Amino acid sequence: MQGVRLITGDGQFDDDLYDLEAEQRLVLRTLSRLTRGGRSANGDDLEAEMDQERAYAGLKKAMDQTVYVEGRKALIDHPAGPVSKLRKLPLPSSVRQFYTDIPHAAVFDRWWFACPVCEWPMRVTLQQTRGGRSGSVQCFHRPHRDFGAKYHFKIPADGGAPKLVPAASAPVARSGNDKVLFPTVHGVTPQATLVKDHAALTRGVWRWTTVPGLVEVALYEALKARGLAPVLWPDLDSYDLQIEVAGAGEKTQFRIDLKDYSHPLLLAQKIQADKGDAGGADWLAVPDYRASSLPLLSRVCSEFGLSVSTAGDLGAKICEEAGVQWA
Ligand SMILES: [Zn+2]
Repeated sequence: MQGVRLITGDGQFDDDLYDLEAEQRLVLRTLSRLTRGGRSANGDDLEAEMDQERAYAGLKKAMDQTVYVEGRKALIDHPAGPVSKLRKLPLPSSVRQFYTDIPHAAVFDRWWFACPVCEWPMRVTLQQTRGGRSGSVQCFHRPHRDFGAKYHFKIPADGGAPKLVPAASAPVARSGNDKVLFPTVHGVTPQATLVKDHAALTRGVWRWTTVPGLVEVALYEALKARGLAPVLWPDLDSYDLQIEVAGAGEKTQFRIDLKDYSHPLLLAQKIQADKGDAGGADWLAVPDYRASSLPLLSRVCSEFGLSVSTAGDLGAKICEEAGVQWA
């Protein structure tokens, strides 16, 4: 667990701590399931079911691929917003319940701010500075902060809406394969939005559906835009993306599962516990911003015939097989 930071410089719990706990729970649950001869871990107070799994179960209930894909897309595209708009999303009520109040840690006075990458409410913290109190706003997901979802604001004397100022200039997309899936930070600085009549997904559903989903959908859209025919979450989500390409030779099929873990060691342990990918994928893709986890994951995955790549490099590989241009 080298390099894991639990408390930030200003004395707050680090957001990675939340990921660490949830990722650890997933591994423990997989292990406990194995030691119980395949029976579910129900009744085990090892931990409560994670929201994300209950949300998936709700989406699968209709046993209809179109319903599943539309619902999951809605959770990715609209993790927060006006209640009147969220109410119209194509979601069963068992999944709709995961929209709740804007999290307390993301509220300043009457306001919240949507991350320009994922659109979920960003964390608000207040500091005492020499010039009085000021606030800072940043996405709960560290990689989004690195993409520029990091701001500060002066507390308005009149109780009006605070105006965000970017904390640093947003990074430019790297060249090469990474460039294609580089998230669009919607150019403009997020505006303060009233908390009233707005809701957001619970943190678990946002973290484990919306956040990785952004990359899943970006990879899907990029392949489709290049004339290929990828399928999202085939067979009610056996894995994340399936694509068949016919190059010069015979057809090649890619069955891809995308994982965005903050702690690659825990992902490696989960793969070991599952003896590869539980849903039958033959490729494990990680977001381009997790490229540093590749050496560890490749070592573990090779044992189970699972290939590992960043999403950008995998897109390039698929396009090469298909004889089309990626970057
Ligand atoms: Zn974000």
